Amino acid sequence: MSAELISGKDLATNIKKDLAVEVEELKKQGVTPHLTVVLVGHDPASESYVKGKEKACAETGMGSNVIRLDETISEDELIQTVDKLNKDDAVHGILVQLPLPDHIDEQKIIDLIDPEKDVDGFHPVNIGRLVTEQEGMVSCTPLGIMEMLDSKNIEIQGKNAVVVGASNIVGKPVAQLLLNRGATITNCHIYTEDLKAHTKMADILVVAVGKAHLITADHVKEGAAVIDVGINRLEDGSMTGDVDFENVKEKASYISPVPGGVGPMTITILLKNTIIACKRQENVE
Ligand code: NAD
Repeated sequence: MSAELISGKDLATNIKKDLAVEVEELKKQGVTPHLTVVLVGHDPASESYVKGKEKACAETGMGSNVIRLDETISEDELIQTVDKLNKDDAVHGILVQLPLPDHIDEQKIIDLIDPEKDVDGFHPVNIGRLVTEQEGMVSCTPLGIMEMLDSKNIEIQGKNAVVVGASNIVGKPVAQLLLNRGATITNCHIYTEDLKAHTKMADILVVAVGKAHLITADHVKEGAAVIDVGINRLEDGSMTGDVDFENVKEKASYISPVPGGVGPMTITILLKNTIIACKRQENVE
């Protein structure tokens, strides 16, 4: 058996076309969704993510700007910047690019962002809303994974979903989204004993660890849907996921590649979240 590919790249392209139409409609009503990204310092990976976000906003006709701050900025100055953005009615979405320099308390900054503008969905209020199934902002990568599963009409309710990785930004929220949709969830992590025993039970397997080819064909149940979130750089500079794609694809029914899988979906959902935030704040449909 060779699995059907879930191309996040193709799905993201289609979603962005729909979002561009939506932005056009909003503009006719005099509203332009606007995302502000705050970038502290010059981390090359962060610079590249931020450029990708600006480009994607421009492609869909949304407004965006980047506030670039020196890495020596004090925590108080950053607090003031976020505070100003919270009060600015023209800004619908605020994203503070992580990681922040060591002298700044990351959680303190996240906690300060207005939950209605928290398009990353990291604010504890939005996490609480996710857990209690209330309307809020859900973080982009987990939501992108759900859209990938839905794009192939993969059944979730009643299925065994195993998530490997339990971070606040990917593992935990995607496990919660799967639970909210009626899956029976198992969340594995670094201390899980006998990882294979768990992953082999998975109808849906989501892997978000950051270890190249941690998941081999032996870990996977015949016919499973496998989503690979991992981004790992090999010595030759190429990018690979957490799943041994070549072998696992012979056993799974669906599989997402790296690159071209979850990555392109994350930015697209950020745009979608900004549009959702804009509509709620402006009270438009
Ligand atoms: P993280 O380092 O915060 O968390 C990693 C998780 O993996 C932890 O819960 C840890 O307990 C678990 N883990 C570590 N080793 C393990 C092992 N041997 N067996 C089982 N579990 C193990 O990472 P993160 O921020 O959640 O990101 C995970 C991966 O996903 C990284 O490669 C990251 O680059 C990637 N990522 C991709 C996107 C995207 O848009 N494609 C977005 C976010 C993260």
